[in-house]
Amino acid sequence: MSKSDYYEVLGVPKGAGEAEIKKAYRNQAMKYHPDRNPDDSGAEEKFKEASEAYQVLSDSQKRSIYDQYGHDGLNGVGHQGFSNFDDIFSSFGDIFSDFFGGGRGSRGRRRDGPQRGRDLAYQLDMTLEEAALGMEREIEFERPVECVYCGGSGAKSADSIRACSSCNGSGQMAFQQGFITYSTTCSSCGGSGREITEHCPECEGQGRRLDKRKMKLKIPAGIDEGGRLRLREEGEGGVKGGPAGDLFVVVSLLPHEYFHRDGDNVITQETISFSQAALGDKVTIRTLYGESKLSVPRGIQSGEVIRLRGEGFPNPGRRSKGDHIVQVLIQTPTDLTSKQEKLFRELAELETNTAKVGGTKKGIVGWLRGLWKAIRAIVRGVRSLPEAS
Ligand SMILES: [Zn+2]
Ligand SMILES: [Zn+2]
Repeated sequence: MSKSDYYEVLGVPKGAGEAEIKKAYRNQAMKYHPDRNPDDSGAEEKFKEASEAYQVLSDSQKRSIYDQYGHDGLNGVGHQGFSNFDDIFSSFGDIFSDFFGGGRGSRGRRRDGPQRGRDLAYQLDMTLEEAALGMEREIEFERPVECVYCGGSGAKSADSIRACSSCNGSGQMAFQQGFITYSTTCSSCGGSGREITEHCPECEGQGRRLDKRKMKLKIPAGIDEGGRLRLREEGEGGVKGGPAGDLFVVVSLLPHEYFHRDGDNVITQETISFSQAALGDKVTIRTLYGESKLSVPRGIQSGEVIRLRGEGFPNPGRRSKGDHIVQVLIQTPTDLTSKQEKLFRELAELETNTAKVGGTKKGIVGWLRGLWKAIRAIVRGVRSLPEAS
């Protein structure tokens, strides 16, 4: 039997207020009351319909259920089956979070048959050196699994489960109001129809417990930020014999004060002196793999980059390695000793004399030009950094 819309029955709009609904109902009731229409069975039907509509629309709780789920909602379909097992997951916020937005799994569904456990995520912090070399790491985590002792029932034994005394095991509560019988999910048993007289001592009635796990992981060399390893069936335990979900170990690279990662390349900055820049030098620098000699060519400008081939991160897919890109910065000396100052002045004299423009004042211009060139080189060097990858 398909029912008429309650709002249509009373002839009121959806957003009608209490008074409007009451008034509409009174009109209909007067019109169709059986006492006034003794021989009209149609009128009696209409009277019943109006009463039913009024019973629902005058009760804010029932009305909101009806607005959301229609007539079905009031029969108990569509708003039942709330899981009692949600709370246990809320404590995992710190280490675990729903992976892939959650959604699949046991939440909000009836626990009838076997169900696969949810996937869980574990964040693994690594340094850039660890990511370059690969490593073995033992991780410890806890995952919710079905309680072995009670098989997930939450009861001490089979004898401590009985039909819910409130709903007689149906999981539904029925109550009569006027002409209508309403049925809602039993609040005592949450719709399961069961009542536990003695809780399982292992899980205290939750049906689940935390399984502490320790696992050795081999992290391949070259893994990048967000890289993940999938550990099959190490996630949340399944329900009623269903398989466990997976555990995703997600790599998070810690920021480094010296190394910067850019894809497979690693970028660092090295500061050298004026004389090293002018004369060239061999400098020992720190690399992902230890130390390396960097040949600084004569006359290098500040901001220029030097590439050390194959000293970057391994690329697991291509069996190749990225480069170590060194940006060279030249430090202008400050706090000169008197000897240094004397030497710089001599140098300045020489620059003046050798400068083609000639003359003391032109010498300053020449020096400014040199400075301008150096600044441009720095800007170029900084700009060229992202392209270096
Ligand atoms: Zn248990
Ligand atoms: Zn019950």
